Amino acid sequence: MTRAYNFSAGPATLPEAVLRQAQAEMLDWNGTGASIVELSHRGAEFMAVAAQAEADLRALMSIPDDYAVLFLAGGATTQQALIALNFASPGQVADYVVTGHWSKTAIRQVRPYVDVHVAASSEEPDGGFRSIPPRAQWQLSDDAAYVHITANETIHGVEFRDTPDVGAAPLFADFSSSIASEPVDVSKYGLIYAGAQKNLGPVGISVLVVRRDLLERAGQPRADIFTYASHAARDSMLNTPPTWNWYLLGLTVRWMLEQGGVEEFARRNAAKSALVYGAIDGSGGFYRNEVAPAVRSRMNIPFFLPDDTLTTRFLSESKAAGLLALKGHKAVGGLRASLYNAMPVEGAQALVDFMADFQRRNG
Ligand SMILES: *Cc1c(COP(=O)(O)O)cnc(C)c1O
Repeated sequence: MTRAYNFSAGPATLPEAVLRQAQAEMLDWNGTGASIVELSHRGAEFMAVAAQAEADLRALMSIPDDYAVLFLAGGATTQQALIALNFASPGQVADYVVTGHWSKTAIRQVRPYVDVHVAASSEEPDGGFRSIPPRAQWQLSDDAAYVHITANETIHGVEFRDTPDVGAAPLFADFSSSIASEPVDVSKYGLIYAGAQKNLGPVGISVLVVRRDLLERAGQPRADIFTYASHAARDSMLNTPPTWNWYLLGLTVRWMLEQGGVEEFARRNAAKSALVYGAIDGSGGFYRNEVAPAVRSRMNIPFFLPDDTLTTRFLSESKAAGLLALKGHKAVGGLRASLYNAMPVEGAQALVDFMADFQRRNG
């Protein structure tokens, strides 16, 4: 069996070493005579797995002690709604910077709860997003509950390359598709959240990194199960957590530490994206990426061929060559290569080699 290179945007490729370890441990975890998925979340065995995953993630991302780390069932979209319930009073203004599809989703989730103020938007007349509004042009509210950004726009391929200074209001960021892909100064954020299925492991679990003082905010009427402070008080075991996902996330984070941590992944991610952008920019216009170079995503690269016939041919031939899931999101069309942490540099090289060969035959 040979594993293909999987460029899926999410759920996405996982490190082969992690899958092999999970396979080897599937029937009997650590001599317990049971699978990790069959053990109580309150038992000593799983509690140790959970605690190790948190400790490793704290080490990987250099998370300061005054931040809580939560492991929660549900996706990033769930957190997009819950942040308003937990951190804004009813009808309070919350500032959103709109840089692509996921920024708009985040707004849709909070409309019932807050007064959304779009502080800046880079949406173009054709509905596309190809840039990030310069910080000087943002119109922030004086009394916003928080300022929300999308660190990396998975569909439009636009990524913040620095952390904006937003003044007094805490900065909240959706890092679903770029978490732990490079060093980030967590202390500049009030809250970071991410679904795990792009850079951290399997779908079905989200990570939330939140400054502890924010957990004291009253927020809005809500059930205890929607209350981050309650999850924090119970080490994310308010109810049965997604134990299998948490375990796989832990293996992935441990693998990342063993590979050299976020500095090493920043290096690999820069190398991979430079390869693919180099192939696009060096193709004489055969391949096209439309994002402003300064904010091109290292994680997701949307690109286009001259016509749909070539796109269809590219997709079938690349798949046959062992390069999977290169179809662009329907909102943008064309092609997209996702180059998350678990994608090896060899995968990006194989894609670039295929692109050159395809151009030779069709250009
Ligand atoms: C994938 C993604 C989401 C949605 O995640 P779900 O787990 O499907 O809810 C939100 N934001 C970003 C940036 C994403 O990439």
